[in-house]
Amino acid sequence: MYFVGVDIGGTGVQAGIVDENGKILFRKECKTDVVGGFEKIMDDINILVRELLEENNIDIKEINSIGFGVPSFINKDGLVTCVNLGWSEVQFMGALKKRFEEVKIYAENDATVAALGEAKFGSMKDSNISVMYTLGTGVGGGIIINGKAFTGAHGMGSEIGHAIIGENYFDCNCGNNGCLETFCSATSIIKYAQKLISEGVESSILEKAENNIEDINAKMVFDSYRENDQVAVETITRFKSYLAKAMGSMINTLDPEVISIGGGVSRASDIILDNIEELIREHILYKKEDFAKIVCATLGADAGIIGAAFLN
Ligand SMILES: [Zn+2]
Repeated sequence: MYFVGVDIGGTGVQAGIVDENGKILFRKECKTDVVGGFEKIMDDINILVRELLEENNIDIKEINSIGFGVPSFINKDGLVTCVNLGWSEVQFMGALKKRFEEVKIYAENDATVAALGEAKFGSMKDSNISVMYTLGTGVGGGIIINGKAFTGAHGMGSEIGHAIIGENYFDCNCGNNGCLETFCSATSIIKYAQKLISEGVESSILEKAENNIEDINAKMVFDSYRENDQVAVETITRFKSYLAKAMGSMINTLDPEVISIGGGVSRASDIILDNIEELIREHILYKKEDFAKIVCATLGADAGIIGAAFLN
């Protein structure tokens, strides 16, 4: 039996045929035709999946299910609104069911899907309750309980990037102030380093960006942290202290076995994991007890395909 996972992103759609051990056997991708519109993207996905099966001599009857990860919230009626894809309340689930009548279809938010992949076959394997934070341009997340993605009573749970953990000097894209995303995303790291530099603090980060403050990226900040640069140390210390707050609150609420950190920021795993458990312990109620293991994701970008394939 095979499983198909489809990861729908703002620039490309990646599809993969996955075996029962979570190994991607075959993969194929196409561009996301945002200009072409919703129905065109749905048609392209249909062609992509069917060609992937055909090219590898796999009949759709041998497929257990097709799962989709989408960079937005899917409401209980299957409607999706996604600014990046230009979709406004499109009937996403309906459009997929119409095109794939002969097979079971599942879909979830992409960060939730990545968490499921990590829980099934990656950094959170063999745990009953696990939480993943995806730290990238924004902050996404997924809560996996007993092998299933947990999204709550109305499907809008697991949005841990918008947990409010403090007051911040700028508002979140969602309109609120103080969301985790504004403290712990790559964007927030860049913004804070830029703020300190524009206030006049000297920094080697600026040299890395060839003196163009707009060109600073999160990797430059982490690289400068390794050189003990003042701006980088202040920025990363602030980032870690808020990450620890968020994780401490998560532990006080859910008490997971493992918390995994994924997304682009997690490439600096040595810096993030260093001393993080001590920082988290400050925010935990039962300080003497064991708490969740903190790890970094291991599947990388493949978590999207693998997790989608195992939605149920
Ligand atoms: Zn927010």
